[in-house]
Parts: sequence; C-alpha cells; structure tokens
Amino acid sequence: ENRIISPEKKEDDMALDRSLRPERLNNFIGQEKVKEKLSIFIEAAITRQEPLDHVLLYGPPGLGKTTLANIIANELNVSIHTTSGPAIERPGDLAAILTNLQPKDVLFIDEIHRLNKVVEEVLYPAMEDYSLDIIIGKGPSARSIRLDLPPFTLVGATTRAGLLSSPLRDRFGVINRLEFYGTDELAEIIKRSARVLGIEVNEDGAVEISKRSRGTPRIANRLLKRVRDYAEVKADGIIDTEVVDKALKLLEIDELGLDHIDHKLLKTIIKKFNGGPVGLNTLAASISEETETIEDVYEPYLLQLGFIERTPRGRVATLAAYEHLDVDYKNKSQS
Ligand code: ADP
Repeated sequence: ENRIISPEKKEDDMALDRSLRPERLNNFIGQEKVKEKLSIFIEAAITRQEPLDHVLLYGPPGLGKTTLANIIANELNVSIHTTSGPAIERPGDLAAILTNLQPKDVLFIDEIHRLNKVVEEVLYPAMEDYSLDIIIGKGPSARSIRLDLPPFTLVGATTRAGLLSSPLRDRFGVINRLEFYGTDELAEIIKRSARVLGIEVNEDGAVEISKRSRGTPRIANRLLKRVRDYAEVKADGIIDTEVVDKALKLLEIDELGLDHIDHKLLKTIIKKFNGGPVGLNTLAASISEETETIEDVYEPYLLQLGFIERTPRGRVATLAAYEHLDVDYKNKSQS
C-alpha cells in the first residue's frame, strides 16, 4: 500500500532523501542534544587521532539516522560504507566489508536489529578489539584464525533500542535517541528543502505542512513534493496555507497529519473494543497490519499526540482521540 505519510523509506524517496540531506552537523536542524554530544565526541576523536567510539542511533523512521551517519563520516573526514542488518547474510559478508575499510572509516549498519545471531557474534570482537575470528575448513580440520582489522567506527541505526540484544547494545560507546521534531524545526527543514528543490513556499505554507508531518522530516519532504504538484496544477505554483489545506484534503491527510490507517486504528480501538484496552496482537489482526508495523510506524506518533496509551492490558484510546474523531466519550459503555 502506498501510504504517503508512512515514515518508512520507499523506493522513490531514495533520490529525494539523498538530495535533501544536510552534509554537516551545523546544517542539521533540531536534535540539539544529540548534535552537541556528537560534536564533542567527534572533536575529541579528531584531536586524539583515534577512531570515534561506536555510535548507536535509535528512533522512529525518517528522523535523520542515515543523515547523521553520513554527517559523522563527513565531520571525521573519512569514508562511509553503508549496509543493513538483513543485507549481511553470512559472517563472510561481514568479513568482506570489514577487511575493506580504511583506518577510522565509518561503517553504517541500518536496521542493525535485524542482523542474524551468527553475524552478530562476529561483530562483537570486531567492535571491541578490531579483530575478526574466522573459521577455515570443515569438520576435524577446521581451525579458527584471527585477523586484525583497521580501527573503525560502527554507526548502527534501529527503530527501538530495546530490539537489540544487550551484548550488542553494550558495545556502543555513544547511544543517541532521536526525538520527533517540533513544528518550528520542521518548518525550517521544509524551507531548506524548498530552496534546494526550487519550490516557492511562504512562511504560513511551511508551517502548515510541518503541522501535518508527524514530527518527521521524511514526511515533511514528501508532503512538500506532493503539495508542490498541487500548487503547480491548481494554483499559481506558490505554496500557502490554502494550497496546503486543499492538497492534503485531496490526499486524505487530516490537520494533525493522520491518514485513513491511523483513523482505522483509532476507530477500531474505540468502536470495536469500546476504547480498549486491547492487546497489540488482537489490534493488529483487526486492522490487518503487522504488530511490528504498528509499534514502529503508527503508534509512536499516536502516543506522542496522547491519543493512545499503553497499559499492561493493552492499548487504550484517550479522551483526546475520541474528541479528534468526534466520537462521544460519554457514550462509551462502562466496563
Ligand atoms: P532515517 O535514517 O532515520 O530513516 P533519514 O536520515 O533517511 O532518516 O532522513 C530522511 C529524510 O529527512 C532525508 O531526506 C533527510 O535529508 C531529511 N532529514 C532528516 N533529518 C533532518 C534534519 N535534521 N534536517 C534536515 N533534513 C533532515
């Protein structure tokens, strides 16, 4: 399904993501705490002429983890090698990548929680001692040899830190959580992207898009592109509040950035389960979504809005959700 406000990367985002990526820490808008920490650690590493400690970045998709990984490499003035958890199938794949690094290079592993166990275990000594234990041969003649690796910095990205095993998590010296962006920050990002793409957007238009971007730069950029299409065809090409409003109505995205799937999820809790609590598995089955998609993609923003709560017995819709959907809270039958 082509969900325009999905924060996940899609095929046609790749080029857009790349062209809109800030390249330096001081062009990266927001995430002040993360930037401050990183700039200190990067400067210290450069001064000591050592590789930067391994960095874990976690948070919902589209908040800038890949962008930061690239910025880290730029600031360190080294190359970045990019791969992902599922792409590294065997220890040999990882060995090939690691032995190809230049000293102090950055290895970026996206979706690092999806590394398989065998590969993960090869990564431990690589992270810790820059060494690689590989087994050569089979059966009784098999033997293990140890290879020295160039010192490197691993940057790992994941949606939730809790998805990593603790031995892996413990091997990261720097752990950063990315937060949803505020409206002002998103408006800055939108104006910057508009400049890069040669799109005309006024202040109010940028703010209006940012309010509907679910705190997520990737969504902000995607909405900007869709609204531009609308502005070019239906208006005079300039994006203002009215254009944003009309374009997003057409795309069925409401004034908080929620789409039909968010509405379906909330309505299911409210109507089918009397406001909850409803267990994640039951909820997922009711709306035909994966539990993981609900947890990583839909829920974080609904939690942030205070529309749902997680309780030990399951998900509960709050008064705010009833109000947003215009459903009478008082009619909720007592349970
Ligand atoms: P993630 O890896 O967390 O899924 P990305 O780093 O791929 O997210 O970011 C998605 C898009 O949002 C990219 O186009 C990137 O340029 C943009 N972006 C993310 N964070 C920022 C930021 N702080 N400032 C400007 N653009 C950003």
